[in-house]
Amino acid sequence: MKYLDEYRDPQTAQLLLDEIRRITTRHWTLMEVCGGQTHSLLRHGIAAELEGTVELIHGPGCPVCVTDQAAIDFACQLAHREEIVLASFGDMLRVPGSHGSLLDAQATGAHIQIVYSPSDAVELARKHPETEFVFFAVGFETTAPATALAVKQAARYQLENFSLIVSHVRVQPAMESLVQAPDNRVQAFLAAGHVCTVMGYESYESFVNQYQLPVVVTGFEPLDLLDGILACVKQLEANEAMLENRYARTVQAAGNRAAQDLVQEIYQVCDRAWRGFGVIPKGGLELRPEWQQFDALLRFNKPEIPVIKRDECQSFEVMTGQIKPPECPHFGKHCTPESPLGAPMVSSEGACAAYYRYGVTTTP
Ligand code: SF4
Repeated sequence: MKYLDEYRDPQTAQLLLDEIRRITTRHWTLMEVCGGQTHSLLRHGIAAELEGTVELIHGPGCPVCVTDQAAIDFACQLAHREEIVLASFGDMLRVPGSHGSLLDAQATGAHIQIVYSPSDAVELARKHPETEFVFFAVGFETTAPATALAVKQAARYQLENFSLIVSHVRVQPAMESLVQAPDNRVQAFLAAGHVCTVMGYESYESFVNQYQLPVVVTGFEPLDLLDGILACVKQLEANEAMLENRYARTVQAAGNRAAQDLVQEIYQVCDRAWRGFGVIPKGGLELRPEWQQFDALLRFNKPEIPVIKRDECQSFEVMTGQIKPPECPHFGKHCTPESPLGAPMVSSEGACAAYYRYGVTTTP
């Protein structure tokens, strides 16, 4: 297939659905890791079509949703300082922190600039040497190469007014934390195609062997998702646990070595607090010591700000598959995209936003 339409062909989708139903002999629970996949599953009605056959639960693959609340609080605090402009992707602006969101902070005078890439923030710092620019670096392995490149650019320009709040997270440690949980319901994973495009999928071999769960690398179009679901179900029905790449047009086993080398040069693996999850061992990336002049945490001496937990949001339960968004008592009532109580309702990759946007108000 060469064109996008071909990955949305209704007849082929029906054949795949029929095949999934034909071979399924019992209820299976699959987790799609990536929020982009969640949106596609809801948008194209796939989750509803498979109701009673295969249950799809939604994983922690929304970078905005898992960004630690303490990092948002720090970003808000820096943005209020006279000499600082906080540069961020737009998605982060409406995510609630302890005392409101970055958008709330902006309304009370904080300096916040939406950027579309980390390099935009570097360019702003280069043009305005009198101002400190702090880039809020969130995201999985997919966005880490771009922020690594920004660090190198800042070093090349010898910028002394550019730094990062590094909040990058790594997806595989989160998957491990999920399957190790006593209440784990995941029987197979649709692995996130975008992350695998960068990181490859070789590292999942040991994961599959250790946990004996199928992992199928899957894309984002309806036929990609149905094909990935079918591959998972075939394995489960055969009592097998294998690693399969069903997104070969984009993902290679070794991934993008140049991007990995760049990330490796700038970052090192660290333990990281995930919003709702707590600290996940090896769950994040931090700047290597030789690049720490660009670490906003060190440059601005992050004060200990008590994080005020927003207990009303059940995002952890949503992102671990314990509940579906409509099961949250606030869904569509106190929590809407205009007035979100939690990140999954406001992020473009959030599961609650997907259910709300596509009008799925009951649990499939
Ligand atoms: S509906 Fe709102 S409050 Fe409930 S889990 Fe989703 S984001 Fe949190």
